[in-house]
Amino acid sequence: MNLTIVGTGYVGLVTGAAFAYLGHDVVCLDTDEDKIRSLESGKLPIYEPGLDELMRLGKSKLRFTTDYADAIPGANVVFITVGTPLSGDGTPNLSFVAQAAEQIGQEMGDGYLLIVNKSTVPIGSGNWVESIVRDSFESKNGRRLNGTCAVASNPEFLKEGSALADSFYPDRIVVGSKNSRAVALLSDLYRPIVNQDFAPPPFLPRPEGLGAVPLVTTDIASAELIKYAANAFLTVKISFINEISVLAAKVGADITELSRGIGLDCRIGSRFLQAGIGWGGSCFAKDTAALVATGQEYGIRLPIVDAARQVNCHQRELVIDKLLEELKILKGRTIGLLGVAFKPNTDDLRDAPAIDIAKRLSIRGAKVLAHDPVALPRARKEVTDVPIHFKDTAAEVFDDADAVVLATDWEEYRTLPFGQLISKMATPVLLDGRNYLDRERLTAMGYRYCGVGR
Ligand code: NAD
Repeated sequence: MNLTIVGTGYVGLVTGAAFAYLGHDVVCLDTDEDKIRSLESGKLPIYEPGLDELMRLGKSKLRFTTDYADAIPGANVVFITVGTPLSGDGTPNLSFVAQAAEQIGQEMGDGYLLIVNKSTVPIGSGNWVESIVRDSFESKNGRRLNGTCAVASNPEFLKEGSALADSFYPDRIVVGSKNSRAVALLSDLYRPIVNQDFAPPPFLPRPEGLGAVPLVTTDIASAELIKYAANAFLTVKISFINEISVLAAKVGADITELSRGIGLDCRIGSRFLQAGIGWGGSCFAKDTAALVATGQEYGIRLPIVDAARQVNCHQRELVIDKLLEELKILKGRTIGLLGVAFKPNTDDLRDAPAIDIAKRLSIRGAKVLAHDPVALPRARKEVTDVPIHFKDTAAEVFDDADAVVLATDWEEYRTLPFGQLISKMATPVLLDGRNYLDRERLTAMGYRYCGVGR
């Protein structure tokens, strides 16, 4: 099939590269000229493990453009994968989706075109996108579109850091549409993934025992709501364990033992039960805000989702409370941060807890040093409103530090030479914000180790 992917960010690039690998002809379109130039020269604008290799494998089937007139005519399916960031009032900013829909309508021809919302969009966006496309077609061509376009919802569930495995070996694929031709087209497109009968990329073997992937076909509104509800549930799970971790610390229990004890119950499950400094990233905050806003539109309160958001905010402030407890005064102190990205294996800084914590620390007069193995170039460019001293090596954040906070659980931080680094610090306070490091070993080295909920 001829596919066009509109928006070449984390979702668009991975989707485009995966479909090219599966043998489709893919055009990736973005309005950001620098991004497209960089992609054309073989340079990835984002960090995602394995993506460069996958793009090399699909190279002959992939091309890049900024021109809708080049990318839309001839396409069988157009995926909209543009950003839907939070706007000031808690609702998603849909202006990028609207611009994309309008441009698609301007450039589409009379043949059947399936437009797929892969961006996370609020309930009702399927109909809304279709009406923009139709109006735009009409204004350009002076006549109505004769029914040859359909809009489907196909929410994306990939996780940055494991986006390729999530795309080739997903837990499920959700397709929302009542248009039988649209459902048939998307079922065809996803068939190799559903049946798991494609040859896996050499560097990404199929997980042992993986059977057919469930394809959930439903109406558009349900598909749109599935995405929001899934993300909301995950935030509730994390905020639940974080809430319990506060009590665990007070009563002298260990939250890591508790997580294991409850996670082994298969009704609960062990994933997303790690207490820490809270969730971040491009999706959870904006998607839970959007869900709450949608509820309000219909006069419905969502107190559980609201509470998950509040607990998460509190969890970040807890870092400040713990440092105050240890150091008494933050003004004039030097605090080192290990990790800036919102989680390991990505360079994404959107709603990163580390940056929020750095902001809270600098407001209280502390000097913040920070390192990240991958996200430093992006952080130096994008984090301009928080006075952070970015350091090229992890060791440098220990220099004269009154405390070091592990904010992102990058693998390489586990094996730092902590025994030597302690001598660089002014006070040996180590706040393990992810309960990731070896508490006993660090305590034996002389660190004042603080975890979360233990
Ligand atoms: P992103 O910000 O990384 O990428 C969006 C891209 O769209 C940018 O490159 C931007 O230049 C481009 N763009 C904006 N307007 C455009 C237009 N009119 N025409 C063409 N390109 C345009 O975003 P992302 O993280 O890939 O997320 C995309 C969508 O997928 C969002 O709705 C997000 O909520 C959802 N999603 C993201 C993830 C994730 O982990 N990042 C996971 C699941 C779902």
